[in-house]
Amino acid sequence: MSDSQLRLVWIYPDLLSTYGDQGNALVVERRARQRGLDVARIDVRSDQPVPTSGDIYLIGGGEDRPQRLAAERLRRDGGLERAVGNGAIVFSVCAGYQILGHEFINDLGQREPGLGLLDVVSVRGEGVRCVGDVLADIDPRLGLPPLTGFENHQGVTHVGQGAKPFARVRIGNGNGTGDGTEGAYNETVFGTYMHGPVLARNPHIADHLLKLALDVNALPPVDDRWYEALRQERITAATQPA
Ligand code: GLN
Repeated sequence: MSDSQLRLVWIYPDLLSTYGDQGNALVVERRARQRGLDVARIDVRSDQPVPTSGDIYLIGGGEDRPQRLAAERLRRDGGLERAVGNGAIVFSVCAGYQILGHEFINDLGQREPGLGLLDVVSVRGEGVRCVGDVLADIDPRLGLPPLTGFENHQGVTHVGQGAKPFARVRIGNGNGTGDGTEGAYNETVFGTYMHGPVLARNPHIADHLLKLALDVNALPPVDDRWYEALRQERITAATQPA
């Protein structure tokens, strides 16, 4: 972290911000401030350069066409790759997750190159669109409680040797490959199909990102009663669909 200020970068709110994913930036920002951190929140529109000195970058989901435009602009910009080279933490959702991989199928039905920051490849699912509440167990190596989220995607994502599945679904589809995996991660880059916004439902993931960025093992506890109420409501929705 540079000069005791946490730099939180929200990538392309004008293109990638479906299903309330902007809430992820609000949650990280708030939880950092609750720990007394000085936070600079930087929203980067798709006609602006991506700063390379951020500590945490967030990218949300998007419809197929904005997703292609975002991938084109991020490739041309190159700032996010440089930031990851500098050790930045990245957390991505759905379309953002697909863009961080090697490639995905765009709105024109063509193979669109991603940024190659996560060893995943996305294809277009042949079956019905994956839509609904999800409950999944996060990779036990991360020591985090079960993941809840809402998925809505046609893409199917295969995780390569250079990344680990982020979670395994109990309910829902996740990566959509049929192997039960959901999302992917490496040392600093995370991807998930979960909306919700996912960090409001799973604030411990926001804390995990903060710990990585601050290079600490623990953070002071905060009052999580509202988050916990939302978590429990959504777990009930996933396990007992109407
Ligand atoms: N367009 C992508 C898909 O359908 C991502 C959708 C999303 O971000 N919700 O797979």
